[in-house]
Amino acid sequence: MRRISIFGATGSVGEQTVELVLRAGGPEVYHTVALTGGRNIARLAEQARALRAELAVCADPADLPALREALAGTATGAAAGAEAIAGAADLPADWVMSAIVGAAGLVPGLRALSHGATLALANKESLVTAGQLLVSTAESRGARILPVDSEHSAIFQALIGEDMAAVDRIILTASGGALRDWPMEALATATVKDALAHPNWAMGQRITIDSASMFNKALEVIETREYFGIDPERIEVIVHPESIVHSMVGFRDGAIMAHLGSPDMRHPIGYALNWPTRAPLPVARLDLAQLSTLTFRAPDLARYPALRLAREVMAIRGLAGAAFNAAKEVALDGFLDGRIGFMDMAGVVETVLDRLSAGEGLGKDAMGLEDVLAMDHLARVRAAEAISTTGRTA
Ligand code: NDP
Repeated sequence: MRRISIFGATGSVGEQTVELVLRAGGPEVYHTVALTGGRNIARLAEQARALRAELAVCADPADLPALREALAGTATGAAAGAEAIAGAADLPADWVMSAIVGAAGLVPGLRALSHGATLALANKESLVTAGQLLVSTAESRGARILPVDSEHSAIFQALIGEDMAAVDRIILTASGGALRDWPMEALATATVKDALAHPNWAMGQRITIDSASMFNKALEVIETREYFGIDPERIEVIVHPESIVHSMVGFRDGAIMAHLGSPDMRHPIGYALNWPTRAPLPVARLDLAQLSTLTFRAPDLARYPALRLAREVMAIRGLAGAAFNAAKEVALDGFLDGRIGFMDMAGVVETVLDRLSAGEGLGKDAMGLEDVLAMDHLARVRAAEAISTTGRTA
């Protein structure tokens, strides 16, 4: 029986993973080793019961008594805290879903790879933060990283049987998020509620706001470089409001392979779960005649400074990705709790990158986990400082 673990099981990607595992037969077909959640203890326990998981782990030790109580009468063990979540990744599993949000997903994913597990990676932040480390760990252990981001799953699928040397460019599509048709001058006043109204995708809160600011696409551009080893100048972004073409690969003979489908994360999650085969998935079939039109337009870089910043990060390399992601997470917290405005997020990240590149080791190439975590920490401190300055002058 295939042994699986799901990190971030109670989130948007995690829930859909659990749904697909249950639809495929649940505990009759999969042996669930570990499920992890953050604060949603009731849901974590329900999932553990449904999948008959060996272990359920929550993020905060203060929630452990509640988790134990919710699991009473089951054979599922309970644990809590960041170290316990990382420890759950040490339990032998064949397939591990990495769907914790933010840099907290890095260590468990890395530990799963170091044990040779196939890592279905939704947590793009870990590739942006420590791409080289994840890829080299996977290579040295003969482990696989399978993309779960819909764009990278699309690219992965378009590249099957192809030679990377024949690839001319990768074209990432972007919906443009909730605010894509707002006048530029109104963006500074956008609220959290405005930024959460995504036109096509139902996702977790943080990635939805990152879609509106295109920080999500900026992370994905860096993620593309890490996954596919392609030069940054050959990665393009195009706004595609319908979210039907999930991304494209252009080849040197002029051909473009595009991956189309309904905007439904159960496709890339299910693809990674069933890889290398394809199994039926509960995803709506496209009616192309009904769709009739697909549109594309170049992104406006003044509206989306995050895209320019991603290019700078890729030019610096080293630990710049770790700083970029950490500063972005802190800036997003600042927007979520009302300390800074929507357009200030990019300003905060840029300030952090400027400060760190002027002498705090951003371009350093040593990529041990400790280097990465130290840069993550430093960038968070610098971002908090930048937010307090932004707040005072706003
Ligand atoms: P959610 O916010 O919906 O879920 C995040 C999960 O992580 C939850 O299980 C949450 O627990 C848990 N969690 C939060 N903080 C911590 C922490 N500090 N330690 C341990 N666990 C924690 O996120 P999404 O599912 O939207 O996104 C997950 C990842 O997948 C992100 O990296 C995102 O960028 C990526 N992704 C998401 C897509 C989507 O459609 N949602 C699409 C493509 C990529 P709890 O809820 O119990 O508090």
